[in-house]
Amino acid sequence: MNKIKVKFLGSGDAFGSGGRLQTCIYIESDDTGLLLDCGASALISMKQFGVRLPDIDSIFITHLHGDHFGGIPFFILDSQLISRRTDPLLIAGPPGMKKRVLEAMEVHFPGSSRVKQKFEIIFEELPPTVPTRLGAVNVTAYSAVHGSGAPSYALRVEVSGKTIVL
Ligand SMILES: [Zn+2]
Repeated sequence: MNKIKVKFLGSGDAFGSGGRLQTCIYIESDDTGLLLDCGASALISMKQFGVRLPDIDSIFITHLHGDHFGGIPFFILDSQLISRRTDPLLIAGPPGMKKRVLEAMEVHFPGSSRVKQKFEIIFEELPPTVPTRLGAVNVTAYSAVHGSGAPSYALRVEVSGKTIVL
């Protein structure tokens, strides 16, 4: 059975309580490099902990609050301009996610959502309770009671023979 590493790059809340960075959990295995949530501080924590952006092939989002997905515009901008990504990037999360991500990109960096990236961005909006195979990962989203302007999810992720739930 393959080994995986789980690194908590951020485990704080939206308010910076205790000086902790916002939610971002890095799953590293031979099969994938995956972020579970990508809070607004994710790029900072990735660089603090030496996680290379091109090693991330997928970002899974639980819900559409900024402390869980607000780092995506920065991730995409860095991938385009600094780390010069060429591999596709999969972003999976609740229905409405693509629209919210593009809106967040426009708010932070006007025009950025209309730029043609040098890499493909694949948005997968997950239906609830349907196991979905995405690359090397099986993911199942379960509805959670948490108002975020879109469905909020708990995610069950199966990767390299292990199961992780957030
Ligand atoms: Zn929330």
